[in-house]
Parts: sequence; structure tokens; C-alpha cells
Amino acid sequence: MKGRVVLSGMRPTGKLHFGNMVGALSSWIKLQSDSTTRCFYMVADWHALTTDYQDTSIVEDNIEDMVLDWLAAGLDPKKSVIFRQSWVPEHAEFALLLSMITPLSWLERNPTYKEQVTELKDKEISTHGFLGYPVLQAADILLYQASHVPVGEDQLPHLELTREIARRFNFLYKKPVLVEPSALLSKSPKVLGTDARKMSKSYDNCVYISEPESSLKKKINSMFTDPHKVRADDPGHPKPCPENPTGCVVFSLHDILEVDRNAFRDREERCRDGRLGCAACKKDLLETMTLSLKPVREKREVLIKEKNIVSEILIEGSRTAQLVAQETMNQVLDAIHFKKPIGMFP
Ligand code: SF4
Repeated sequence: MKGRVVLSGMRPTGKLHFGNMVGALSSWIKLQSDSTTRCFYMVADWHALTTDYQDTSIVEDNIEDMVLDWLAAGLDPKKSVIFRQSWVPEHAEFALLLSMITPLSWLERNPTYKEQVTELKDKEISTHGFLGYPVLQAADILLYQASHVPVGEDQLPHLELTREIARRFNFLYKKPVLVEPSALLSKSPKVLGTDARKMSKSYDNCVYISEPESSLKKKINSMFTDPHKVRADDPGHPKPCPENPTGCVVFSLHDILEVDRNAFRDREERCRDGRLGCAACKKDLLETMTLSLKPVREKREVLIKEKNIVSEILIEGSRTAQLVAQETMNQVLDAIHFKKPIGMFP
């Protein structure tokens, strides 16, 4: 494969929210337009089991919803390989082999592991699968010889672990089989949810990218602004400051969406000196967000009528992905001196 190879994935948690759209998804869409980059985008359904193994009944619906959102937002199966992890069983085979060479201490020092075991108390995630998910993640990336992985800064330790595992494999078996991926650092804006905490499904504070207009209006009207700005002409504190520690959610969304930066600075000034009231400011945001989300929602409505579109795309993408995965597995098995008779397996 020539040029850059990019691998990224999302756990299927259902409909995507605005934070997903301006974060990972928008960078995926940009990457797929670069003719020197081959993009693999994965529905990480096995990863969903690392924390939510008890009730799996929702996984299929979540996959459908998430992939519909990917397509509606602009991910194009003609430009990207869109596939489902569990339909390429080489991920499991490779993860098993990599788990043999990964020291336990590398996994135990993973800050996310410790954090999540404490945070997700109700989920009983002190499991082999959860401790080992970074190995599965390494397998996902290394299987496609990905040269680049789009990540946020918080995910850099995970990518470093993948690089360490690749180095260890190449060193142990004295063959430079695995490519050490580099980070494509994305500067995604931090998107606040309606309550001024980070936008997240677990906080129930999301604006979804397929949000109907009527509920979009309700959500914007309920957004946290500035408790000190009671009347329209009170001076406001739009940015985080001692008077308004989280800052105004409406303002932060204008910041993400407003292309005209002079107009944005003017909004800040008018808020601060009491020339702009929150009701008018929310009305402006409703207009801007409607403009941004409407095409996505409309495209989704068309796609949803095309029966089986998601499964057809995932079947086709998984077939393509598997060809690449098998090529890597052949090199891996060769490096560890394991034989796989040609023609014995599909
Ligand atoms: S006027 Fe706008 S920016 Fe200022 S506090 Fe109200 S909603 Fe926020």
C-alpha cells in the first residue's frame, strides 16, 4: 500500500452527537478526501463489550444508528473502507498473539484502566477483556499497517503502547513486520453539553446530529448561559471566569460554528456590555445549528429508507479490510514460524 494509511474507529454507542461530529468525524471526512491516504474506519463492536458485556441486545441497533450518522455526515464508502471489527476475525487472532508478548505491567500502568475501574463502579469491569483492550486496539491498528492514527492528546499513551508492542514484536521475531504508527493529533474543540459539562451520552446533555428541529429548539433554550445575566441588558460573562467558571454553553457553540470571526468577537462584546440578551443569542444559535445540521438530518432521512444500506456497506468494507488483514497475518505467522496451509482456511 502506498502513501499514508489511517485507521480509526468508534465504539457503537448509537446516534452521534454534535461533539462527535466536530471532533473525530469531521477529521475522518477531511482525511478521506486526501488522495494519498487510504482510510479504514471501523465499527469497534468488540470494544463495546469491554465495558458493556452484560446487555448486548442494543449493539445491532447502535451500529445501524452510528453508521447512518457517519454516512449522513459525509463519510463515503467509495473513498474509505468502512468495516465492522467482528466481521474481520483476524482482529481477535492477532490480539491473542500480541497479548502473549505484552507484559502485564504495560497494561496495568494504563491510566484509563485505573480511572474507569473506579468511575464505572456499577459495571464490574475488572475483567481480562477490559484490562487487555489496549492490546485489541494495537491489533486493530497494526493489522492494517496504519502509518497514522487520528488521536486526541488524551489518547497518546494508548498509541505509544501500540508502538511499544510493534517494536517488541519486531525485536522478538527479528523481522520488521509491523509498522509503528504515528499520531495525527487532532485539535478538536471541547464541546460542552447543555449543562456545561463535556457533551456526553452518559450525562444526557447531548445535541444529536440527527436532532429534529423541534427538540433542537428546546435543547438550545435549556442551555446553561450565565447565571448573573438575568435581564437582557445585564453585563454577561460568556467565557470561563470566576463569575461564570464553566462559561456560557451558547457562546462556546457560537465559537465552534461561527465562520465570521469579527461577528463572533462582536457577539462577545455585545454580551459583555449588555447589548445582547440570552434569548436573542439563543435564537441566533438555533439558526446557525439548524443550518449546519439540516443537511445531515435530511441525508439521513433518505439513507434510512434504503433498506440494508448499512449492512451492505459493512459487508463490502469488511471484505476489503479482511484482504489487508490476512496479508498482515501471513507475515505475522511467518515471523513467528507458524504454518497455515494455503487453501485450508477461507
Ligand atoms: S448573551 Fe449569549 S453569550 Fe452572553 S451569556 Fe447570554 S447566551 Fe451567553
